[in-house]
Amino acid sequence: MREAEALVAAHAGPFSVYYETLVAWNERVNLTAITDRDEVFVKHFVDSVTVAGLDEWRSLPRGARVVDVGTGAGFPGLPLAICFPDLKFVLLDALQKRVRFLQEVTQRLGLRNVEVVHGRAEDLARQEGLRGRFDASVSRAVAHLAVLLELTMPFIRPGGVTIAWKGPGVVDELASGERAAHLMGGAVRAVMDLELPGGAGRRSLVVVEQRSQVPARYPRKAGTPQRHPLA
Ligand code: SAM
Repeated sequence: MREAEALVAAHAGPFSVYYETLVAWNERVNLTAITDRDEVFVKHFVDSVTVAGLDEWRSLPRGARVVDVGTGAGFPGLPLAICFPDLKFVLLDALQKRVRFLQEVTQRLGLRNVEVVHGRAEDLARQEGLRGRFDASVSRAVAHLAVLLELTMPFIRPGGVTIAWKGPGVVDELASGERAAHLMGGAVRAVMDLELPGGAGRRSLVVVEQRSQVPARYPRKAGTPQRHPLA
C-alpha cells in the first residue's frame, strides 16, 4: 500500500487536476458520492493504484494493453494511466455522460496512453481489435464476480490476467466466480487482501489468469450476464 501512496504523491499535479475536474463535473453529472479531497485521494486514487504491488502487474511489459470495464469516473483505470505512462489503457463505460467527463479530463491531463470508449462490454467484447487483445483488465464495483468475469475475460488474450477490486465480502462470491472463470477458459490465481491507509477500508484484489481463448458464445447478449449469471 505504501507503494500506491508514493505513486499518487509523486503525481500530485495531475491528480489535483483530476480531483478539481471531478468535483466540478459532479455538480451536474453523477460521478462520485465522495467529494472531500483527502477521501477522494485515498478511496479513489490510492485504491486504484493498489494493484501496483501485485507481481502480475509488475510483470506487464512496456506497451502492454489494459482495459477498464465499467470505469465510471475513471476508477481504477485513469489513476493507473497517470502513474504508468508506459502502459496503454482503454476505459469503457455504458454511460455517455461519464465517457464525456473522461474525454475532458484525459485531454486536460494530456494523457496519450488513454482511449475512452462508449458502449456495453457485452457488445464491445465482440469487436475486432478489442476481443482477446488485452494483457490485463482492471475493474472496480461493476458487478458480482461471476457476472463481472463474463464482461471482462473476453477482452483478455491467453496468458493475460483479469483483476477485480472487491470488498471483504468477496469470499461469498469466490465459489461462483471460480466456476465462471473456468467456463471462460481461466482460473482464479490469487486473492490479495489489503488495507487502505487511515482505516479507509479493506480491499481484496482477485486475480484471474486466462489459460485459453474465451469460448465464442461469451459474453452472452447485453443484459443476459446480469439477469442469468453463469454460475
Ligand atoms: N469502476 C468505477 C468505480 O469504481 O468508481 C465505476 C463503478 S459504477 C458503480 C459501475 C459502472 O459500470 C457504471 O459507470 C456503469 O455505467 C458501468 N457498467 C455497468 N455495466 C456495464 C456494462 N455491461 N458495460 C459497460 N459499462 C457498464
